[in-house]
Amino acid sequence: MTTILIIEDEVELTKVLRSYLERANYQVISAARGDTGLTSWENSHPDLVLLDLNLPGMDGLDVARNIRHKDDTPIIMLTARIEEIDRLIGLELGADDYISKPFSPREVVARVKAVLRRANPSRESPEIVRAMDLEIDLNAHTVKRGKTTFDLTPTEFSLLVALAEFPGRVFSRLQLLEVVQGTAYEGYERTIDAHIKNLRAKLEKNPKKPQYLETVFGIGYRFRKE
Ligand code: CA
Repeated sequence: MTTILIIEDEVELTKVLRSYLERANYQVISAARGDTGLTSWENSHPDLVLLDLNLPGMDGLDVARNIRHKDDTPIIMLTARIEEIDRLIGLELGADDYISKPFSPREVVARVKAVLRRANPSRESPEIVRAMDLEIDLNAHTVKRGKTTFDLTPTEFSLLVALAEFPGRVFSRLQLLEVVQGTAYEGYERTIDAHIKNLRAKLEKNPKKPQYLETVFGIGYRFRKE
C-alpha cells in the first residue's frame, strides 16, 4: 500500500486530506509539527510527503532540506501564499510540486497521484476508469460506451468520475458539491440534482430508470455497483 505522510499543523485540514487520501486507497500517517514530522518520515519511509511550510517545531523548509539530504522521497509543499511559491522555487529545495492554500482536497489527491506517477512510472495508476459498461479516460476526458462517445461538461465529467471511481459508495450532495466546486456551501446542494439530471439524460438508456447513477433517498447519490 502506498503511504502518504501529512505534516501539517491545521488539524481540520489534515482530517479532510486524510479522508480524501484514504478514499483514494492511500495509507495516511500525519504529524502536526515539523520536528515530529521528520521523525515520522525517518520511521515510516512514506512514498510521498505533503508538507506545510509554516510549522511549529521545525520550519517546513528545514524539514524538506533534511529529507532531501537523505532521500528522494517526493515532497509536495503546501503554502498559504502565492509569493511563497516563488521563494520556494528560488530555493531549489527539490520539492516535487507546490500547492497553494486554499485548495480543494480533490486537487491534492490528483497532484499526489501525478507526482507518484512521475516518481514511480512502473507503478502507474490506471488512467481509465471502467464502471459497468462505461469507459472513462481521465487523461482524454472522454466517456465511452462501446463506440458511443458522450459529450459531457467539465462539471458533469468530474461528478461522474467521483461517483464511478467508487461504485456502491454513497456521496452526499454536499460532498459532490465539494468535488465540482472545490468548496461546499450549504444551501447549494440542490445544484447537484440538476447536474445529475443532465448526466442521466446523456448517459442513461432510460433516464427515468437510471442504471448508473442511483439516488439514495435522503442522502445523495451513488454509482451502481455491479
Ligand atoms: Ca501551518
